[in-house]
Amino acid sequence: MRAGHAVDLAVVNGRAVLPGQGTVEADLWVRAGRIVGIVSPGTPVQATDTLDVAGLTVLPGAIDAHIHMGSDITMAKTHEEVTGETASAIAGGVTTVLAYLMSAQPYEDLFPDAVRVMEEHSACDFGFHFCIGTQHQLDELPAYVRDLGVSSFKFFMNFKGEEGKYLNLPSNDDGFLWQLLERSVGIGAMVNPHAENIELVWHLREAARAAGGPDLVAWNNARPPIVEAEAEARAGMFAEVLDASMYAVHCSSKLALDALRARRATHDGIFIETCPHYLLLDQEAGIGTYGKVNPPLRTAADREALWQAVADGNVDVVGSDHVPRHKSAKEKDIWSASAGFPGIETLLPLLLSEGHVRRNIPLERIVEVVATRPAQLFGLAPRKGAISVGADADLAIVDFGRATTFSGPRMRSAAAYTPYEGLEVAVAITHTILGGRVVVRDGQVTGGGGGRYLHRSRSGRAALAALSGGAAEARRGGGA
Ligand SMILES: [Zn+2]
Repeated sequence: MRAGHAVDLAVVNGRAVLPGQGTVEADLWVRAGRIVGIVSPGTPVQATDTLDVAGLTVLPGAIDAHIHMGSDITMAKTHEEVTGETASAIAGGVTTVLAYLMSAQPYEDLFPDAVRVMEEHSACDFGFHFCIGTQHQLDELPAYVRDLGVSSFKFFMNFKGEEGKYLNLPSNDDGFLWQLLERSVGIGAMVNPHAENIELVWHLREAARAAGGPDLVAWNNARPPIVEAEAEARAGMFAEVLDASMYAVHCSSKLALDALRARRATHDGIFIETCPHYLLLDQEAGIGTYGKVNPPLRTAADREALWQAVADGNVDVVGSDHVPRHKSAKEKDIWSASAGFPGIETLLPLLLSEGHVRRNIPLERIVEVVATRPAQLFGLAPRKGAISVGADADLAIVDFGRATTFSGPRMRSAAAYTPYEGLEVAVAITHTILGGRVVVRDGQVTGGGGGRYLHRSRSGRAALAALSGGAAEARRGGGA
């Protein structure tokens, strides 16, 4: 045997989902953390470790492009805040997370500590998005991209007046959003607006409160789809006029989806994210304040429209919008309970079970929305997001013959609950591999730490252009 055929890890006898090829029986060879061979089953190799995954399906590790960390959700600051949430990630087959740092402080001051605590304790690889709210942060945008490797920026369109105070974020307006979009162009950046028209909410919420009714119906009535759709339309029109890339986070309603699709028909810089809860849950979910989230859970018709968009390619990415605040923050009345809930551990199983098994969406399409497309849009491809030679050996291994019943107390998040309590899904994540290391084995988390910071020098259309440029170069014979 040639020395070149000695590998660190061989993942053998599985069915792997490969880009452009679908599900293929293949052995995967890993050396120095990367995939170095995708070969016919049984091809001889000298491997230090062999993982036999006969009967199982091998996917690229999921990328959760939308999470929040820390008990105050602004950023993780302690060991405890990192270990639980990232253990939850790998238990759910997520090998890369993109966390939102949300502060009015200069990010150049916060960034070193944010990276350090994650590098010391994170069980998965990670990158950041920054939430931009001050003039200083706006002025530093090019340095954030170039020096810190953060190329996607959140903006809360609803933080007017006192609305951002709970996160210590200042009041903003459409002029600020315009400047953020304007400055994102030419530096390879993308803007991720949280789209809600808060002035409309101020008008509508008193009537919703007075009308009462079930908690989640009242919450939806206070911030109905028009609140979201009008803001998406406005931000999308700004992006089109300025020729900027925009990533519509957590699209929750058919009305907002239609507004974004209309914009996308004339501007190819619009990208759409939805979340598992907008696909799985609605205002009739019967989970009370545990289901409070912004934008709110909608109706069954909205869920159907979003599933359709996942299937037909109109949704680019499904991210969890994971919020790790403890259960007790939800156990209040609907108007004072905190918004958001954990979702990092349930993201991939829900999409596989409810999307693929129950709705027949092809497995390759599920892999696109939860791995390949987020990698492409956030500057992580070709290192992340697909099983291909040269990519990081990040894998999620799935048993479609075994069910899982979700139980919040058994999950690893500090939140200690799940909005899907008691739900049985038709899959189990059996193994997770991060950079060639088996970090979940037979459903047990075995690896902590080892997560690496991912410097992302471009996002959005700039990232896609760099990828297609690279592919063209490879076709001309320059590539490996
Ligand atoms: Zn979020």
